[in-house]
Amino acid sequence: MKAPSFAYARPGTLAEAFDLLERLGEGARILAGGQSLIPSLNMRLSSPELLVDINGLPGFSKIEVLSSGVRIGCLVTHAQIEKSAEVSKHASLLAQAAPHIAHPAIRNRGTLGGSLALADPAAEFPACAVALDATLFIAGKKGERRVKAGAFFKGLFETDLRPGEILAAAEFPPADKAVFVELARRHGDYAIIGLAGIRVASQKRFVFLGAGAAPVFAKNASKAKSLAEAKAALGEDLDPPPDLYHTSDTKLHLARVLLERAWNTL
Ligand code: FAD
Repeated sequence: MKAPSFAYARPGTLAEAFDLLERLGEGARILAGGQSLIPSLNMRLSSPELLVDINGLPGFSKIEVLSSGVRIGCLVTHAQIEKSAEVSKHASLLAQAAPHIAHPAIRNRGTLGGSLALADPAAEFPACAVALDATLFIAGKKGERRVKAGAFFKGLFETDLRPGEILAAAEFPPADKAVFVELARRHGDYAIIGLAGIRVASQKRFVFLGAGAAPVFAKNASKAKSLAEAKAALGEDLDPPPDLYHTSDTKLHLARVLLERAWNTL
């Protein structure tokens, strides 16, 4: 299918972008890598009047290593994250997760900002952001605000972003150890269920994807002192929705399989 007709603008400054977003209101959509937005237009799931292409905005394509963590601009692609030596060294959870996202062609265009802003419950980076307790930097006409990843993801494809705002960057604090594991029918498919796990000192954090409307922090399993305790606690943390092929019980079983793999690595 073909997309409905729309106007296209590529602002060169943030001020210009905010003006366009404000002027068109609900009729405008931000275009980043286009790997989710364009298929949704082609399938006629949405029909914006104007696409505001943010790829011409300066300063959003940087990966910076800071004392507080790694700051990654919204336009950094999945492929850049996958190949970056800095990310691999300082935020290895993201480097481990990136190869699980779709296929190379999609990773070459899809962006971190697009993935976080879309908030697909089966996406890899939102779960990583919650596991690492990332801070998201949101640019608006009146300035910048910061939101913790745990508060950013509100529900199914729903975030804390307000109309006219642009997710500018995310900062990922360091972890002592990280592990990303997922189960998919074929490599590159969206995950049936996945797990982003980290350890800072003796504190573990397990966050599941594909287990709810948004990333699910398994708080009881994360506090457990042994693997057996963690696996039992997962029943209190997760109530995964069934999909076309898997019941909720199957997904919970698979979640425990992933938890065991992650626990043994951490
Ligand atoms: P776009 O498609 O350009 O935008 C997506 C949404 O986010 C739009 O609503 C847009 O307005 C908004 N947006 C984009 N950037 C910003 C910003 N900076 N601030 C505010 N709003 C913004 N993803 C996975 O995580 N895992 C997978 O396994 C996976 N498999 C895929 C398989 C296929 C066949 C396809 C086509 C896509 C798949 N994806 C998968 C999605 C892919 O990762 C997308 O790249 C990503 O979800 C969106 O990033 P994007 O840059 O392409 O965003």
